[in-house]
Amino acid sequence: MGKIKNIVVLTGAGISAESGIRTFRDTGGLWEDHSIEEVATPQGYAANPELVLRFYNARRAQLGTVKPNPAHFALARLEKSLLSKGGYLTIVTQNVDDLHERGGAENVIHMHGELLSQWCRACDHKFRSDAAFTLSSTCAKCEGVGKIRPDIVWFGEMPYRMDTIETTILNCDLFVSVGTSGAVYPAAGYVQMARGLGKQTLEINLERSEGSHFFHESRLGKAGELVPQWVEETLRQAGT
Ligand code: NAD
Repeated sequence: MGKIKNIVVLTGAGISAESGIRTFRDTGGLWEDHSIEEVATPQGYAANPELVLRFYNARRAQLGTVKPNPAHFALARLEKSLLSKGGYLTIVTQNVDDLHERGGAENVIHMHGELLSQWCRACDHKFRSDAAFTLSSTCAKCEGVGKIRPDIVWFGEMPYRMDTIETTILNCDLFVSVGTSGAVYPAAGYVQMARGLGKQTLEINLERSEGSHFFHESRLGKAGELVPQWVEETLRQAGT
């Protein structure tokens, strides 16, 4: 690969697996024993809001029991190094956990929302909280009752900050995908966009993703081992 200054890394549930957060697809389309339809769609929420709030309360509480792993720390190291050389690393994550931030990364786009962000549907107010919410929780801003939902982008909803994501891919030299099955669009389509723009592309995943053939290179194995190795290589090439 030539001189790399700007990098976009797309991450998925696989990067957090070694921290102890279960992925969707490795458990046969279930996430912590619930179907995607039950807990990750607007229809699921309409059918059983108590269950959905309980599910995300449990996921939020789980954050306190897990820690970033070497893959999260390595990406944060790479971000600092590229920044000091006038480049950038943008992490576009499909994950709703906060492990990239706790690993030290700052330039993180949560395209599918965040467990620690809540959204009042009555007044559109979004606020950060690690508390548990129920159908009788009250919005601190508008005092509406029972209108707070997790600030999570469910299947069928529009991911966040798509314009910014596309601009960072347009301006990058290398697009890397880590720990994602390549089954959820639009994230799964970013590799094709990057290829179409003439960017270098690399995937790091336990197994070949669905869009594996779009990548110039695939490295198969655990993110906690392969991401730090790749970051060291990249830092050496960048002369840092
Ligand atoms: P996914 O479950 O569909 O795919 C995970 C991929 O990671 C698989 O291809 C698997 O082989 C790979 N993988 C598993 N362990 C790995 C490891 N140790 N190292 C490297 N790769 C590993 O997840 P996805 O592609 O992110 O898409 C599904 C959706 O799941 C996302 O929208 C996301 O919001 C949601 N989700 C998020 C979390 C989280 O925030 N941590 C957890 C579960 C699901």
